[in-house]
Amino acid sequence: MRVTGPVECAADFREMCRYEALEGGVAGLAPGRAAGLAIQRAVRWALAGDVDAVVTAPVHKPALEEAGYHPGHTEMLMALSAAPRVGMLMCDEGSGGGDRPAKRVLLATTHIPLASVPDAVTAELLSSQTRLLAAALRSDWGIPVPRIALCALNPHASDEGLFGSEERDVYGPALASLADAPWSLTGPVPADTVFGRAFAGEFDAVVAPYHDVGMAAFKTAAFGRGVNVTIGLPFVRTSPDHGTAFDIAGRGVADPSSMVEAIGLAIRLARGRRRVG
Ligand SMILES: [Zn+2]
Repeated sequence: MRVTGPVECAADFREMCRYEALEGGVAGLAPGRAAGLAIQRAVRWALAGDVDAVVTAPVHKPALEEAGYHPGHTEMLMALSAAPRVGMLMCDEGSGGGDRPAKRVLLATTHIPLASVPDAVTAELLSSQTRLLAAALRSDWGIPVPRIALCALNPHASDEGLFGSEERDVYGPALASLADAPWSLTGPVPADTVFGRAFAGEFDAVVAPYHDVGMAAFKTAAFGRGVNVTIGLPFVRTSPDHGTAFDIAGRGVADPSSMVEAIGLAIRLARGRRRVG
């Protein structure tokens, strides 16, 4: 196993920023350029097969945008690798001792206003995200028959239509379209029970219909051990589940545990994908 960088990225970084003063913990055009360049280079290596996985550190989205890049890793990775569809999967693999089951939550929709969620959660989206998740669990995690739960949108999964119709009109067709899939699918399960059941080991992963329902449960349970995995890319990509924390840059007090988990999981998933591929 060979781990590369950040050393080799540093050459690009210097090259880009030769004429500009850079300061830790400060956003701007030069650091935005450097970050974009590092991501481009990592993807180039991954697509060429020079590396098996890419682990990304947090980026400052406005700085990336100012430098002329897509304002986020996932958007950049999709564009650079021409991936038609990706999924944002939060993982806590239960490492660190004890017998803790893994916690995995796929966000079917990500950074959109809550008011846009009902229109965005379509049967097609739920079924394609679930397929992507099942494929990743099989190839990268080596789980032959993944057990997946779909988290409902409405309280009590709408109590047979009392609190909404999406469980019948959207989840119904999605589940029907996946009925012949060679894995186990349960849902729609109410949000107030699905995560407890999954995190106790009943399911390998949960598909959450929107960001906060999934992230609130995940981050409460995962205590900073969370890793963000982008599934659907032609290479393995992980990142820690926190932001840039400019306020503590250079002070030597940042907690590296999520980054350590992200690197460890990238290695494990890359090995899994190699075994299958
Ligand atoms: Zn987020």
